[in-house]
Amino acid sequence: MSILDPKQDKDQSDIPSLDRLLRQPGLQQLLARTGRQLVLDEARAELGQLRQHIRQGKSADTGINGLASRIEARVGAALQMSLQPVFNLTGTILHTNLGRAPLAEEAITAMAAVARGATNLEFDLGRGRRGDRDDHVEDWLCRLTGAEAATVVNNNAAAVLLMLNTLANRREVPVSRGELIEIGGAFRIPEIMRRAGCRLVEVGTTNRTHLKDFTGAMSPRTAALMKVHTSNYVVQGFTAEVADTDLATLAHQHGLPYIVDLGSGSLIDMAALGLPHETTVRETLAQGADLVSFSGDKLLGGPQAGLIAGRADLISKLKSNPMKRALRVDKVTMAALAATLRLYAQPETLQAKLPTLRLLTRPVDEIRAMAERLGPALQNALGDQAQVGIQPCSGQIGSGSLPVESLDSVALAITPNTGRRGTGGALKRLATAFRALPIPVLGRIGGDALHFDLRCLEDEAAWLGQLPELRVK
Ligand SMILES: *Cc1c(COP(=O)(O)O)cnc(C)c1O
Repeated sequence: MSILDPKQDKDQSDIPSLDRLLRQPGLQQLLARTGRQLVLDEARAELGQLRQHIRQGKSADTGINGLASRIEARVGAALQMSLQPVFNLTGTILHTNLGRAPLAEEAITAMAAVARGATNLEFDLGRGRRGDRDDHVEDWLCRLTGAEAATVVNNNAAAVLLMLNTLANRREVPVSRGELIEIGGAFRIPEIMRRAGCRLVEVGTTNRTHLKDFTGAMSPRTAALMKVHTSNYVVQGFTAEVADTDLATLAHQHGLPYIVDLGSGSLIDMAALGLPHETTVRETLAQGADLVSFSGDKLLGGPQAGLIAGRADLISKLKSNPMKRALRVDKVTMAALAATLRLYAQPETLQAKLPTLRLLTRPVDEIRAMAERLGPALQNALGDQAQVGIQPCSGQIGSGSLPVESLDSVALAITPNTGRRGTGGALKRLATAFRALPIPVLGRIGGDALHFDLRCLEDEAAWLGQLPELRVK
């Protein structure tokens, strides 16, 4: 203390002691509500910050009431859930950053049912002995894909890793140069192959790969042939790729498996719902694939998971790889997946019950009618700060599914009345205000407007109900 100058020394001594602070009535109530440790931690942090400000000669409020309310705010912020529901009005239905597929009610109920207590996750109730957690979904995956067997891991990236590590560790896998994709995040096929312990043999060129390229790449070290669905881009123009049946035949002639990373991997014919055709898992297996991997939370509409369907002997090898233990899913995911797959049993009700399909096939007229209902209320909430218009727009499926296909939709387009302030800044302030709502609203800025694509808005009342809290700064 002696090295502090007299003025600062005096300021430090103005700070109330921790004991005195904790006797303050507001903090006494907080202590009773949230327990001692959290309040103590936040009080110490606040006092520490105050001392630092004083040492640095910054302005500092040492009043006990101000301090108490800042500590209350800290405790509130620490207890606030950071993971929370949002309105996805970005126009991308399966948005990876926004958690991809919204789950069906049946899946949510199933998750809640197993979350609370013990379950028969790995217990065979019939025989009264240890079971396999995959048993809860394997039969249904087989029914829906025509596969002999199936297994489940944490996500499709894990599925690809497990397939490659099990079948091709220390050996070679030829892959077309047109399929050496990056999915986003850090999923790059060459990187995953290296991590799986196998050597990538690049064949063909970016735009054209022929069967003879694969034939020429076969060696005694080849372990499998692999095809990767180029999910998030398309190669157009002078292109050629080798058909699944040809790759399967070549692999089988050498006694090797042919594996396919299908990415989105639909279980049903999307074209029958008026959507662009996406190769189904069943079709890929029928064309000769020995293993097909796909995501649980893309077009399938379930929880995050990686599903692998195919030949029983290969699935059994995957299951006995110790890596499977490290990549397995928990009981909550398993319950959601099991309930989601069962919805596919009834094609007549699937579209209504599975939110992903319901949203993807939502009629534009219905979306426009909603825009017309919501537009005036939004205009009212914004007053003279912005103009609300109703505009046709185009959204996308997202998560690399059918990347070049767009989905016609309708958006509320908000154009700030900027006056002398620039549009860019005004748009950012608008977007920030919508993100600060109790259920944050996420849209897309395009041109001079903030667009809310309404395709994914189902709870109109909740959306409208929070508009009075909108504060544009
Ligand atoms: C999305 C995708 C992956 C990664 O799947 P996750 O479930 O996100 O791990 C891998 N391969 C392809 C072709 C994909 O489209």
